Amino acid sequence: MGLDYLSLLNPSQAAAVMQIDGPCMIIAGAGSGKTRVLTYRIANLLEKNVDPFNILALTFTNKAAKEMRARIEKVVGPEAKNLWMGTFHSIFARILRSEADKIGYPRSFTIYDTQDSKTLIGQIVKELELDDKLYKPNLVLGRISAAKNKLISVQQYLNDPVIKQDDEAALRPKIGVLYQQYASRCFKAGAMDFDDLLYQTNVLFKDHPDVLNKYQNIFKYVMVDEYQDTNYSQYLIARKLAAKERNICVVGDDAQSIYAFRGADIQNILNFEKDYPELQVFKLEQNYRSTKNIVWAANSVIKNNQAQLRKDVFSDNEDGPLIEVLKAASDNEEGKLVAQSIYEDKMNHHLSYDDFAILYRTNAQSRAMEESLRKLNIKYKIVGGLSFYQRKEIKDLVAYLRLTVNPNDEQALRRVINYPKRGIGDTTLAKLINSAEESNHTIWEVVSNADKFLPTRTANPIVDFAEKIKAYTAVAAKEDAFEAAKFIAKNSGMIEELYADKSIEGLSRYENIQELLNGVKAYTEDPEREDKSLGAFLQDIALVTDADTKDAQSEGEQVTLMTIHSAKGLEFRNVYIVGMEENLFPSQMMITSRADLEEERRLFYVAITRAEKKLTLSYATSRYQWGNLRSCEKSRFLDEIDPQYVDFKFSSGPAGSPMDSAFGHVLERRSNLIPAAPRKTVATKYVAPSDFQPSDTSNLQNGQRVEHPKFGFGQVTKLENQNGSVKAIIQFEEVGEKTLLLSFAKLRIV
Ligand code: ATP
Ligand code: MG
Repeated sequence: MGLDYLSLLNPSQAAAVMQIDGPCMIIAGAGSGKTRVLTYRIANLLEKNVDPFNILALTFTNKAAKEMRARIEKVVGPEAKNLWMGTFHSIFARILRSEADKIGYPRSFTIYDTQDSKTLIGQIVKELELDDKLYKPNLVLGRISAAKNKLISVQQYLNDPVIKQDDEAALRPKIGVLYQQYASRCFKAGAMDFDDLLYQTNVLFKDHPDVLNKYQNIFKYVMVDEYQDTNYSQYLIARKLAAKERNICVVGDDAQSIYAFRGADIQNILNFEKDYPELQVFKLEQNYRSTKNIVWAANSVIKNNQAQLRKDVFSDNEDGPLIEVLKAASDNEEGKLVAQSIYEDKMNHHLSYDDFAILYRTNAQSRAMEESLRKLNIKYKIVGGLSFYQRKEIKDLVAYLRLTVNPNDEQALRRVINYPKRGIGDTTLAKLINSAEESNHTIWEVVSNADKFLPTRTANPIVDFAEKIKAYTAVAAKEDAFEAAKFIAKNSGMIEELYADKSIEGLSRYENIQELLNGVKAYTEDPEREDKSLGAFLQDIALVTDADTKDAQSEGEQVTLMTIHSAKGLEFRNVYIVGMEENLFPSQMMITSRADLEEERRLFYVAITRAEKKLTLSYATSRYQWGNLRSCEKSRFLDEIDPQYVDFKFSSGPAGSPMDSAFGHVLERRSNLIPAAPRKTVATKYVAPSDFQPSDTSNLQNGQRVEHPKFGFGQVTKLENQNGSVKAIIQFEEVGEKTLLLSFAKLRIV
C-alpha cells in the first residue's frame, strides 16, 4: 500500500470510506472532505481487489477527475489508470462512441458545441420564416435543453397541453416545431449536442435493455461527486446503472446547488432517499479548508435561505483575519484595489500568485481586473471565457477535421465549404440545402453528388471540395490524429491562407494553428492513450469544460480569474469576490422569485467557502454597463454577513472622508492612499514611433534588446531553431513574454 490514508481521515470520514457495499449518501457542508472521502473510498475499493474497470466515478470537471485519479494512484499505483472517471458528458460520450449505431447515429457522431447549436437554430428560424427577435437562438436552445434534461421527447413536447399553454402564453407557440426540426437536423447530420450525450444515453438504456445490462455488469460501483447539481437526465442514468448492484455513493451539499438554471434538481437528493430505503447516510460537519471566520461568515449568510437542510459546519482551524471589504468609486478603481491588495499580500506573506483567485458573477467583469493586474505585472490566467477552441481559425480547422470524421456534419460543412474561398457562393449553398431538403438527402449526399443536382460550372468546385474531404477521410482511416490533421491543415489551403497574412493578427492565427497541431501531437504521443484516431481527439476537445481550461494556459505562478460557477469544488488560499453590488450579485436577471434569490445566495456561499485563509469582498459605487456609467448600490449579501466577522477599519484618508454609515464594518481604502507597488507600473500604452523600421534580425543574439511595433521594448531570452525557422522568446517590459517567429516579427535591434 502506498499511503496510510486512514490516518488522513476523521472517524466519520473513515466510516464512509470503509462502507463499500450498498447505497450511501453524504450530504455535508463545504470543505468537509466529501471529495476526499470519495477519493479514498475508491482507493479502498481497489485495495479490496475490486477491478478498476468496474468502478465509475462521475465528477464535475475533467480536471477534478484527473486530480482524483492522481491521488488514488499514490495509494494504489498505476491500476488507478483503468478507473472510469470523468464528467457525465465525457463518460457517456465514450460509451455512445461504441453504441451509437444502436440508436441510429454513426459511431463517429459529431458533438455540436453551443455555438453550432445556436447557429443551426438561427438557420431553422430563418427557413421557417419566424420572427428572429421572438425566437432568439439562445432562448430557443434553453427551452430545448430544459426539455432534454427532463427527458421530454419531441413528441411529448408537441403533445403536452401544459407546455403548449406555456409557450403560447410566452407568445412563442412554435418552440415545439423548432425542437422537432432541430432534433431531426442534428440526427441527419450525425450530430449530438451536449444535452444529447445524456438524453441519448437514456434512450439507449431504455430501448436496449441488453446494453444497459452490459454496463450494469461493468459498473459494479458507481460514485457521483457534486450530486446536488445533477439534472434529471443524469440522475436517471446513475439510477439505472446502479439498479442491479445497488452500490452507489453520492456526495454533495444542498447549500451549494447552483445550476438550477441548467436543470439541476435538488429533488434528486430527496429522490435518492426514496429510491434506496436501505441507504446509509454519513454526516461530515468539520470544515478543514477555511479559517473559523470564513466558516462562520458563510454560515451566517446561508442561514438566510429558507429552503435549506439544516447542518452545522464548524472549523478547528485558526480564527484567521476578518473578512475585508473594499469599496471603490468605479470598476476600474475596484480592479486597482484588488490588484494592489494581491501584490501587497504576496510580498508581505511570501505567497505565490497561485495562492490567489478572483471570482466574479459574470465573465465581463474580468476586463477591469485584467487591466489592473497587467499594470502591476501580475501574471494571471482566466478560466473559461473565450477558450482556445472558440477562436475562429481553430474552429475552421476543427471543422475540416470534423467533416473528415463525419462528412454529414452540417455545421462543419457550412463553415468550410467556401473557406479558403473556392467560388462556392451563398446562393449555391442555399441551392444545395434546398435540394437536400427536397430530395430528403443530407447536405453531404448532395455535395458529394453535386454534378447530379447542379449545372457543371457551379458543380465543379463542389465536386472538388467533396473529393478533398473523401481523401481526408481515407488518410484519417490509415494515420493517427496528428498525421491526418497535419495533412488536412496543409491540403485544405488553410495554412497557406494564414501564412500569407503578415499582420500581427495573421501571425497569431498562424501560430494558433501550429499550437493546435502541437496539441494533436501531444495527444497522439501520450502513451496512455489507446485510441489515437482523429475521432478520439475530436471527442476529447469537444468535451473540454469551462473549468478545465485552467490547466491549458498554466505557465509559472498566476492569479486565477474565474466565474463563481467554475470555482465549484476548488480552493485557494486567498479569495477575492468582486462586484458585490445589487443587480450584479445578486444578478438582476436571476431574481424574480425567492427561489432565484436563494440560488444566488447559494452561489455566494460557494464563493465564500473557496477561501482557505483570507477572504476579501469588493464593490464599486459606479460601473460601466452596456457602455453607460451607472451608479451602483452595494449588494444586500454584504449586509447578510454577521458584522462581527467583517473587518472594521477606518480609512486613514483625508479628514472628513465620508464613511458609509450603514456599513460601518468596512475597510475603506482609496486607491490613491496606497503607495504604488514598487514594481514597474506602466500606465500609458507603448506607442511605436512613426518612423519605426524593422532591422535585419538574422544574426539576433540572446540577451539583445529589441523593439517591437506593438509590444514595445524587450529582451531576447531564448532563440530556438525549429525546422529551419527561428523562434525568439522575448521578455517584453509591458506585455511580458512572447514567442515570435523571426521571419515574421517586425523587430528593431536597439
Ligand atoms: P466542497 O464542498 O467545496 O466540494 P469538500 O467537502 O469536497 O468541499 P474537500 O475538497 O474534500 O471538501 O476537502 C476540503 C479540504 O480539506 C481539502 O484541502 C482536503 O484535503 C482537506 N481535508 C479534508 N478532510 C481532512 C482531514 N480529515 N484532515 C485534514 N485535511 C482534510
Ligand atoms: Mg468537493
